Parts: sequence; structure tokens; C-alpha cells
Amino acid sequence: MTFSDLGLSPKVLSAVTDAGYTQPTPIQAGAIPHALLGKDILGIAQTGTGKTASFVLPMLTRLEKGRARARMPRTLILEPTRELAAQVEENFIRYGKNHKLNIALLIGGVSFDEQDKKLERGADVLIATPGRLLDHRERGKLLLNGVEILVIDEADRMLDMGFIPDIERICEMIPFTRQTLFFSATMPPEITKLTEKFLHAPVRVEVSKAASTATSIIQRLVKSGSKPWDKRETLRNLMKAEDAELKNAIIFCNRKVEVSELFRSLLKYDFDAGALHGDMDQRARMQMLANFRDGKLRYLVASDVAARGLDIPDVSHVFNYDVPIHAEDYVHRIGRTGRAGRSGKSFTIATKSDTKYIDAIERLIGNKIEWHDGDLSTVVASEGEDEAPRRGRGAPRRAGRKDDDRKEKGERKPRERHAKPSEAAPQEAAHDEQPVAAEATVADIGERRARKEAIRSENTERKASDRNEQRTPERGDSRPQRDSNRPARHRQEDNDATVGFGDDMPAFMRIVAKV
Ligand code: AMP
Repeated sequence: MTFSDLGLSPKVLSAVTDAGYTQPTPIQAGAIPHALLGKDILGIAQTGTGKTASFVLPMLTRLEKGRARARMPRTLILEPTRELAAQVEENFIRYGKNHKLNIALLIGGVSFDEQDKKLERGADVLIATPGRLLDHRERGKLLLNGVEILVIDEADRMLDMGFIPDIERICEMIPFTRQTLFFSATMPPEITKLTEKFLHAPVRVEVSKAASTATSIIQRLVKSGSKPWDKRETLRNLMKAEDAELKNAIIFCNRKVEVSELFRSLLKYDFDAGALHGDMDQRARMQMLANFRDGKLRYLVASDVAARGLDIPDVSHVFNYDVPIHAEDYVHRIGRTGRAGRSGKSFTIATKSDTKYIDAIERLIGNKIEWHDGDLSTVVASEGEDEAPRRGRGAPRRAGRKDDDRKEKGERKPRERHAKPSEAAPQEAAHDEQPVAAEATVADIGERRARKEAIRSENTERKASDRNEQRTPERGDSRPQRDSNRPARHRQEDNDATVGFGDDMPAFMRIVAKV
């Protein structure tokens, strides 16, 4: 089958050819003909299957007739994160290059004014995160009764992020005569209920088993001691061992504190790394992502929330620095590699306290994951290591824990967060004392300093903008009443105080470089 068999318009077909695609993927072949006929679609597909084009291409064809009116968008696409929304916009720009359509992107973290102007002009395509969309509507700047096509993308992610009540409200604001295209990688009961309520006789297109992992990905578990320095060393060794095959990699951590710590450690060891977490403002995230996508950065350390649904076509490796606590996150993480039929590798660093999380993952994917170099029974415990269940970093927070109290008071946990060189593992301590600076060129130091400065100022800006948002009646994407509905794991990431990249200056930054 080719794209020209699907019923798309000549303008759309020409843009698809220019994008270099000849054959539709299964979700595209299954969904596009029905979408063009105006039917509701229930698409069960994960990212990486070509699902974005499966709704963008028929929408473009259908939008060729008719015009947008001020403040009354003709179509609405709801996305769980700002990054995903921006990626959908890129798809509309790429495939809509032969159309003159007005596209408006309503996401948090950027000013309302520009977005208002676009709405005022009349949007053919409105792409939004639920919070910002509702904010615009409450300000009286947006009418949803002209929406002809509604897309709800990544519905299971919306559920995870506590957005379902918002989605229900939005669905109720749009005429029931609309066409609804609904996509989810998995179908938990809450999502099934939503589809029963809001879809009319949908055509179900399922391209892979729910929660399956692509077969083109080589998956391995890697044993490690459980101390942070053990895990960092295991990771560095893996990165070095994979170097020849490794084009670029995403390194996932469970919490943003770990993202910050690991990022700093990798820089110290001269790895070309960037970081992506929920505290960075939109501009910083997009810039970091663009650098990674363009090959200017080889490694991206990321948290689940920040990285969800990113479309980075050819990531060769995924490293799980932490075993994800929720098994479904494993599927989403490793889905960043092996996309669109390419091959990929994923390595998950596992400690003794991770056994039950690994069991849950293996149950979910229906397969045993092979060990890279011997299983956990061969781990030699490092000094002071205990066998107690995982606590602190990477573990779900429990109310009333001492660590939490400390954090809330803004106190540091004395050892884990900011270990002095004498307390660090032997190699890392030695490393802290001098070699990085001795080996680094002045240019390296300058570049690293600039990168750190940029991140520090972006963090400061972000905090300032958060404070402003609290003062004004306008709200960003994460509003308190929504947050109270959010599951603990996402609140956990949002609430962790960020260590920041600036407060804790590594040793190499303190050395005066001689020119
Ligand atoms: P998505 O599932 O929408 O995130 O798409 C995953 C990747 O597949 C993106 O990089 C798309 O550009 C790419 N893609 C989309 N459609 C096709 C196609 N028909 N053939 C090959 N690659 C595609």
C-alpha cells in the first residue's frame, strides 16, 4: 500500500513525498481512510509508530474546505505536555507546507499575548495542553463551539498527569457533532470509560499489543551496587563499552534531583551531556532538546515527565539509571529507541532493591529481560551497603519521613546530596580533587561554564515566572486543584526541591585556568 491509496489530497501527498515517506505505517494505513470519512477513531498505538501523521494528514485534507473565524478554532488537538504539543505543530508545518493554514499553539510557560493574537486571527488548527486551553477559555478569549475535529492524543499520559477531569470538561464544551480522534498507547479502565462516553461508534485501530515493546530493541539488565557512586560508575562503564555503537542516548532517572546530580557528574567526567527536567522553563527545554536532536549533545539526562513522548527519531541507546517504579514507564522510556523500525539498545541499571520493580516490568512486557553481565547474585556489596528496601532517592515518598521534613524546611540531607570528596567513592573522590580541570582545556571550561550559567539563569527565570504566575489570577498548566488529583509519582517530581545546577559548584569550575 502507498500513501496515494489512502484518499489524501494532492497537496498533502506532495508534502508527504517531500518528507521522504513512501509507505504508510500500520496506524496510518488503518486510521487515515476512516478519518477522511469523518468517522471517530480509537487508535491504540504508542509513540514511534507514526501516529501523529495518522491524524495530521487527514485533518489537513479535510481543512482544505472552509475558513477559520476569529476566536473560533476549527480543530483542536490536546496534548499532555508542551513538548508534544510543539512536535505536533512541527508536523502540521511540515505536512501543511502547501496549505495556508493558521496554526495556534497554546502551551504554558509562554506569554498569553502572542497566543491571544493568533486566536483573534482565527485558527484552523489549535494545539493545546489542557490547562492553558482552559485558562484562555476562562479569560473569554476562546470559543470552542466551532470545533469540527477534536484530537485527544496520549490519553493514558493525560490520565497519569491528572488531566482527565479537564479533558471531560473540554469534551463537553465542543458540539457533539464533532469528529473525535482518540489515541492512547494503553487502555486502562478509566480511558475505556472516557472513550465510551465521548466517542461515537469509533473505528478501533490497534497496531501493537498494549504495553508491548518494539522487537527491534535489544534490552539488557545491568547489575550494580546500590550506592549512587556505584551506579554512576556502572553507567560510565556501560557508556564507554557502548561507545563505538552509540550515536546518542537518553539517560532516564526517576527524580529530577537525580537528573541534576547525574548531569553534573557526567560533565565532570567529560561526557557531552545535557539535562531535561520539569523545572526548566519551556524555552530552555526546547533549546536543550533541539541541541540533542541536532547532534550538538550526545547524552540527554532526563526525567519521565520531561521526556514523555519526545520524538527524537534516531536515538541509538536508552539507559535507565534507575529502574522505573511504574512498569509502564519502562515501555515508554525504551520506546525512545528502536523507533519506526530502526534498531536500538536499552540498558537498565538494577540494584538488589529493584527486584520487585523488574518483576513487574517483565510481567507487563511478557518477557524476561536478559542480564548483560551476570545477575544480581554476583554483585559485590560496597562498604556500608545494606539490603534494606530502597529508600530515599528513587523510592516513592511516604508521608512524615524525616527526609521529606528536611526538604520542606529547605535543609540538605547531609551525606547523599552533597557528598564531600572524602565521603565519595574512591574514584569519584580522586576525580573531584583535580584531574578534570587538569585535563580540560580553557575552551572546555568556558563552554561548560556557559552551559551551567545558561541553566542557572533559566532556573532563576523559571522561579521568577512561577512567582509571578502565583501573584496574578492567570494560571499556568499546573493548577492547584488539578494537582490535587495528580497521582503521587508526578506530584513527587514537581515537589522535589531542585538542587539546581548552580549552587553546588564542581571542583573544576573553581580552578583558575592559566592562559
Ligand atoms: P510518531 O509516532 O508520530 O511520534 O512518529 C515517529 C517517527 O516516525 C517520526 O519521526 C516520524 O517522522 C516518522 N514517520 C512517520 N510516518 C512515517 C512513515 N510513513 N514512514 C517512515 N517514518 C515515518
